[in-house]
Amino acid sequence: MTETHATDPAESASPAFADLSLDARVLSTIEKMGYETPSPIQAETVPHLVAGRDVVGLAQTGTGKTAAFALPALTHMAADYDAGNLGSVPNTLVLAPTRELAIQVAEAFSSYAAQLEGISVLPIYGGAPYGPQLAGLRRGANVIVGTPGRVIDHMSKGSLDLSEIKHLILDEADEMLRMGFAEEVDKILAQTPDDKQVALFSATMPKAIRRISEDYLSDPVEVSVKAKTTTSANIRQRFVFIKHHAKPEALVRILETEPHDAAIVFVRTRSATEEVANKLSARGFRAQAINGDIPQNLREKTVEGLKAGRIDVLVATDVAARGLDVERISHVFNYDIPLDTESYVHRIGRTGRAGRSGEAILFVTPREKRMLRSIEKATRQPVEQMNLPTVADVNASRLERFSERITQTLSSEDLEEYRDLVTSYVAEHNTPAEDVAAALVAMVHDGRPLLLDEQGDDELARAAAQSFDRDDRGPRGDRGDRGPRGNKSGPPSADPGNAIYKIAVGKKDGVNPGHIVGAITGEANLRGNQVGSINIYPTFSLVELPESLSPQQLDALSTARVGGRALRIEKDSGPHGDGGGRSKREGGFRDKKRGGFGSDRPFKKKDRKPRWKDS
Ligand code: AMP
Repeated sequence: MTETHATDPAESASPAFADLSLDARVLSTIEKMGYETPSPIQAETVPHLVAGRDVVGLAQTGTGKTAAFALPALTHMAADYDAGNLGSVPNTLVLAPTRELAIQVAEAFSSYAAQLEGISVLPIYGGAPYGPQLAGLRRGANVIVGTPGRVIDHMSKGSLDLSEIKHLILDEADEMLRMGFAEEVDKILAQTPDDKQVALFSATMPKAIRRISEDYLSDPVEVSVKAKTTTSANIRQRFVFIKHHAKPEALVRILETEPHDAAIVFVRTRSATEEVANKLSARGFRAQAINGDIPQNLREKTVEGLKAGRIDVLVATDVAARGLDVERISHVFNYDIPLDTESYVHRIGRTGRAGRSGEAILFVTPREKRMLRSIEKATRQPVEQMNLPTVADVNASRLERFSERITQTLSSEDLEEYRDLVTSYVAEHNTPAEDVAAALVAMVHDGRPLLLDEQGDDELARAAAQSFDRDDRGPRGDRGDRGPRGNKSGPPSADPGNAIYKIAVGKKDGVNPGHIVGAITGEANLRGNQVGSINIYPTFSLVELPESLSPQQLDALSTARVGGRALRIEKDSGPHGDGGGRSKREGGFRDKKRGGFGSDRPFKKKDRKPRWKDS
């Protein structure tokens, strides 16, 4: 008989990752990646999978299901390895409907295995030459992630040995059947050892999936997560369809054009809170990050700052924002889509407090359309699409705010003394008062242009969808939030066309992002919007700038000074390039070349004999 668990997460406190009996190295890896709490599907399935049970999980893309099946399998493999029982024959087979999903699952598996040196993951999929896959299989891989057709091909060629498979995972099972892989899936399931553990993940549960579950899973635990679904009527809900890399610019534009009081921006990981808050500070917003790592007293101070109006934008993870009740919050941004509809409801409930109205804006990347649909279904409320503000909109609102400031200053301040100053300057230098006023405006803006360059529109227009069809399932390959830039545990990675530069000033010089942007735009003739993320470390900082800076710009920048110190700018070459001075705590680069997918190479960490023991 099938045991069914339907949990309302609002009623039961979510467990911590540390409570899930995962291998210590796996646990430490996901903590470093910035995952704070298990998503509902993880909380519900991981304990059963670790205990060896078969599991049927009803879950869509974007809910964290990859970690739900990968972490327990890696935990078992680590134990086998420690006991000397893990050979080079495949131990875990994941079947995925498409090449893109196979690649992404392999990538995720490999990053969760980062501290299990010697474990290798190999994606094998159709439409690619056999040679590299055969070579990878010959070298030996512990985890194979494959599309069903290609797996069958390798089985019949004798190049894939499934006789030792301990874990078999069917990912997006309904999709595999829809794509006509029923026969292949049956064949693979039938030809793997009887005592393997099977996990089946599917967004829906049609009869054919039920049949597979009955035929091939033994006494499975069935998990579905029931969501709390009430949203308050005084909150207007909108979404923006946007590619992952364009989110920071989209956020800034909306904040610049939407009249708002305070805002809370929800992101998925600790590291993203810092990254996004830094980007906002660099663009002149009073933004602060809060996450589970920040001590309680500092968190309280930040919330006080938000209440008192010293901070306007809080960038938070779900955990850190729990229970936050600040009337000023007029806007909630779901910058990263939540992992379940229940957190969506909790998140947007941070606005519209005390009978006020509120605005909830959700960023949806192409692969997250299904999540949008499930949010609408669960909350039984349509989420309306909003267009991204154009550069012209931003400039119009900047001009409006600028003239408001002038009007306000004229009416509220005693300007007598300053007027005398200007009058005597005009007389002494024979300069028109308009020119003096213009120079003062430039001084106020500290070298930053008041208006954006209209060219910026093209790039954002490309990143946003021209037309959005809610029923279109979207390109499966676009897992924008986990590509090479998606290394959320690490330091910044650059948008296309940009590069990360290192400058020789850091926290110890008392710099803030505003100082850095000021110096860079002032000296190198760059616009403020060409400066991307800024990460400030104790002795240096990393700044995202256009890849193609001219030698003159680089020259000007290397002698430019902040806080009395020269920037000495150079392209960043990662932790090895800086004399080993960047500690892990400071967020040393992870080697992005490791496990490059383009190469079809297995994800072998090291060729030397693996050593996994904690030291
Ligand atoms: P998936 O549904 O497996 O495609 O995962 C969706 C995204 O959520 C991926 O970018 C994961 O890295 C991320 N993710 C998965 N689990 C967690 C978690 N517990 N906390 C934060 N992010 C997570």
